[in-house]
Amino acid sequence: MNHPHAPLRLNVGFIVKQRIGYSRNFSFDFASLLLAPDLELQNFTGNAEVSRTQKGLLARVGLNASTTVSCVRCLTPFQLELHTRFTELFVELLHKASEIELVLPEDGHIDLGPIAWEYFNLEIPINPICKPDCKGLCPICGENLNHTQCGHKIDDVDPRLKILKNLLPKL
Ligand SMILES: [Zn+2]
Ligand SMILES: [Zn+2]
Repeated sequence: MNHPHAPLRLNVGFIVKQRIGYSRNFSFDFASLLLAPDLELQNFTGNAEVSRTQKGLLARVGLNASTTVSCVRCLTPFQLELHTRFTELFVELLHKASEIELVLPEDGHIDLGPIAWEYFNLEIPINPICKPDCKGLCPICGENLNHTQCGHKIDDVDPRLKILKNLLPKL
């Protein structure tokens, strides 16, 4: 795996020459990894089993990693665990690939990176939360209510008093 720009690019050309049913396992283990263009991953592990089929090569892939995201409630960065599994058929050029199939490149290398990028992004929620009961930030002082009890009461301020309060500094 000496392809820092395409760490999930596999040389599978030799499998095409094997009998149908032949398979080969590739395993991955990276402390950190950038999936182009923008996905920073840590503790990346996984494997890809690539088998020779009648039409081409079938890749069965399972990947695990974690990525840093910010909690939408308390704005604290945290590690989100990601797990994905997918199967892709890379069809040899002499066969016609259907719309959902990929073509096996002539150089005999397949790059799982862009596919993994898509699957991992599906796993990342639009509004990540660090823990289900995250208390968020105090809207008055901005303290992280998971760690601090600032004592501000948020819900029981009478809205009419609030208006008065806003007027006071102007008097
Ligand atoms: Zn949080
Ligand atoms: Zn507060």
